[in-house]
Formats: sequence, C-alpha cells, structure tokens
Amino acid sequence: SIIRDEIKPIDGASDSQLSAIDGIAKEFDLTVEKLSEIVNHFCNEMDKGLEKSGMTVAMIPSFVTGIPTGNEVGTFLALDLGGTNLRICEIAFEGKGVINVKQQKHKVTENLKTGPANQLFDFIADCIDKFLSELVTVQFENDQSENDKKFKMGFTFSFPVEQTAINKGTLIKWTKGFTCPDAENKDVVFMLQEALKRKEVPVVVAALVNDTVGTLLSHSYKDPDTLIGIIYGTGTNGAYFEDIPKIKKLNKYSNDSEKMIINIEWGAFDSEKKVLPLTMFDNKLDRESNNPHYQIFEKMISGMYLGEITRNILLHLIDRMLLFDGYSSKELNRHYSFETEYMSTIEADESHALDDTKKVLEELLNIPSTTLTDRQIVKRVCQIVALRAARLSSATLAAIITHCGRVESGSSVGIDGSLFEFYPHFSARIKTALQELFGTNADKIKISLARDGSGVGAALAAMLTTKK
Ligand code: BGC
Ligand code: MG
Repeated sequence: SIIRDEIKPIDGASDSQLSAIDGIAKEFDLTVEKLSEIVNHFCNEMDKGLEKSGMTVAMIPSFVTGIPTGNEVGTFLALDLGGTNLRICEIAFEGKGVINVKQQKHKVTENLKTGPANQLFDFIADCIDKFLSELVTVQFENDQSENDKKFKMGFTFSFPVEQTAINKGTLIKWTKGFTCPDAENKDVVFMLQEALKRKEVPVVVAALVNDTVGTLLSHSYKDPDTLIGIIYGTGTNGAYFEDIPKIKKLNKYSNDSEKMIINIEWGAFDSEKKVLPLTMFDNKLDRESNNPHYQIFEKMISGMYLGEITRNILLHLIDRMLLFDGYSSKELNRHYSFETEYMSTIEADESHALDDTKKVLEELLNIPSTTLTDRQIVKRVCQIVALRAARLSSATLAAIITHCGRVESGSSVGIDGSLFEFYPHFSARIKTALQELFGTNADKIKISLARDGSGVGAALAAMLTTKK
C-alpha cells in the first residue's frame, strides 16, 4: 500500500476526491530507499558537524562528560525553557535511582516570546523567586560562605546554543516561535544570571544544557546503557554520547573522560532542501514562518508544525471543492489554528461516525457542516502527515545508531515530548520504519519514554559539575 499503515476506506467518496487523496499520499510517501538516502545524508552531515563549527547540523559539544551512576545524592534546582511552558523544579536525588521532584509551571506568553530579551529573563527570575519562597524550605547557616548560600541550578535552554563551557553558551538562532530580537549571539547564562542579580534571587547557574542532553542524562541515571536522548515535542532534536577523539573541532580539550554528549541540533538538517521530500504544503509553511529556510527537518516533524501542514492540505482540498462542500471557516483560515493536538484526537477517533472528529471540525473550528466522507478524508490527511513525520524521525535515529557502530549490539534510547507521549501510533510507526531499515536488528533498539527528563537532567548536570 502507498502509505505503509492501515488504510480505512472512505465511504461515498467521489473519484476526484479519491484521486486527490491518492496524489497527496504519494507526495508524502517515504519508501525505504528514500529513507536510506536520508540516513546516509544525515550520517555525512554528522561527520561534517563534528569536524567544523557553523555547519548545518551543528553537532554541539555539551561539555557534559560525566555519566551518572544512579548513586548520586543531593538537591538542585532546574529551570526548563523552550517548549510551551516554563518550568522551575527542585530535584532531590536520593540514590539508587530515586528522585523527588517539586515543580511550578508558567505559560510563556506571545509577548514574552517576541519582546526584548531582558523582559523574558526578568520574568524567569521572578518565577524562580516565587518558587523559592513558596516551595523551597532549605535554610542556609550563617557560617556558610556567600557562594554556599546560593542555590545551584541547572538551566535547560532548548534552543541551538554554541556552547563554550558547561555554564556558557551563545544563542545561535531562536526556533519554535521565539524571536526576542536582542538575544541572538549573546550568552544566555549571562543574561539569566544578570536578571537574577537585578532581582536579588540567590541562585547560581551551574550548568547549561539542551533538553535532549538533559533527557539523555536523566535516562542514563536509570539505564546506564543509554546512548541517545530525543525530544519529539513542540520542536525536535537528539543528543548522544560521542567518543571525544571523534569530536575533531574540539582540538584543545583535555579531560580524563572518554565520552562527551553531543547536542546534534537535527532540526536544521537539510535546510539546503537537498534530500528531504518537501511538498508545496511544506514550502508554504516554511515561507510563511518567522524563520524561513531554517529548521526544515523540524518543520516536517514536530508538534508545532504538523497541524499547520495538515491545515494547508485541507485548505487546498476545500479550494478544489473536494472537502466541506468548498467552505472553510474564519477559524480554519487562521494560521496555526489547526493544532497538532486536534490531529491526535482525530487519529484516536475510532467511533463509527467519527464523533470526536466532528466536534473538532464543527465546534472548535466552526466548519458549518461536515459529512462522514469529509471527516474520513480529514482523518486520512492527518494520518498521511503524521506517518511521514514518524518515518522521518526513524531516519535520524537510525543514522546515529549506524554512526556509533551499534546496529548489531543495539542501544537504549530515552525519548520525551508531547508528540511521542500522546500522539497515537507515533512510536509504533517509528518502530516499523526501523524494521524496514535494520530488519531484526531493530528489535535491539530499546525505545522508552523519559518523561520530564529535561528538568531532572539539568539538575544532574549541575550536580556533576559542582561535584568535580
Ligand atoms: C531546538 C533544540 C531543541 C528542540 C526540542 C528545537 O527547536 O533547536 O535545541 O532541543 O527544539 O525542544
Ligand atoms: Mg520540554
């Protein structure tokens, strides 16, 4: 079958509806040959990124070299910025893999995402202050030194950062709808530390990590065989343990460790548009985005964008009188109004009349009326878009495993993010694609959910550095 997934019939569809859907399915189809081509190209891009900085796939050294043993004990703060919410946590490691977490969440408004950077960092400092006064009970002793009277914090900042030390790094480029104009090329730890100073909040930022690095660390705390940490959420990216001698661009680094975590930044993969099978729906999304020609791979995969690709297809069908009798709605005409969460609901809808799908379309999106055929078409479109996302996701995963020589020996992978956790069939579709690529060796890849890994991982990174 064309779409390599279970296909349900569309009742009462006309020939022109069927042939339109078929055409779209073909454009979004990823054969195993095409997948292999993507895997190969990605392997080459990984090598390039390890050799030189500033490459499309950035392959950023994280300066995290310690691997947690699971026996660490201590209490640290963590700050997590970069998805839909801002989170502040206190994380107590109690040994034997036991972790206790207290946390507060805050929504990051559009205004904060797009306004001056100081405004964003002042807001973060205020949230940390609130957290300390409401949830943290630790008292410092009078005879402790000034530095010891400060809380140590790990900062998960989920954007591409050119890191120069465990607690230093400049933002390369915003992603996922953040655009604060005066933050790019600046040290994000410095900006946060300055805001904490302005607000007199007694916190030292001890470590800066990407969310994928945090996820990898926290999953290693539980399973020492872990090789890869991945996020499939608002954005997408991966990190893995690399042999230090293979990180050629890191020439003067001396340290006793053998491995360092690399933050791949795969969202930017193929921004030259060489191998990825982009459709007009993808190109329209890219052109209308606030970072055109950046994060091309991410735009085909992550939660921020899948709904928008789907919306583009639905509008195309509406304009050809093939859906909703040719009518759209004010809501559906609005950019990003078709949320990826709606796709989740629709793909999970197994009811005979597609009742949940009807609710999404008629109540949330105000489509005047829908037939069962309409709803089945919408469901099929969601499936087509999400299946491609999952298959593309398998390609980078397969490439890292190949790069690390672990096809035969296998590896453990910790994954976090709303798409992986909640989107129906997402992980099953990745597994199917891995089987097509690796045959039975695919069974040696242990994929598991690493929920809230970034918070715990940031605290672990803070602990690993302060213990040195
Ligand atoms: C960022 C990455 C991050 C990923 C997942 C991407 O947009 O560039 O740094 O890891 O989103 O949050
Ligand atoms: Mg996150």
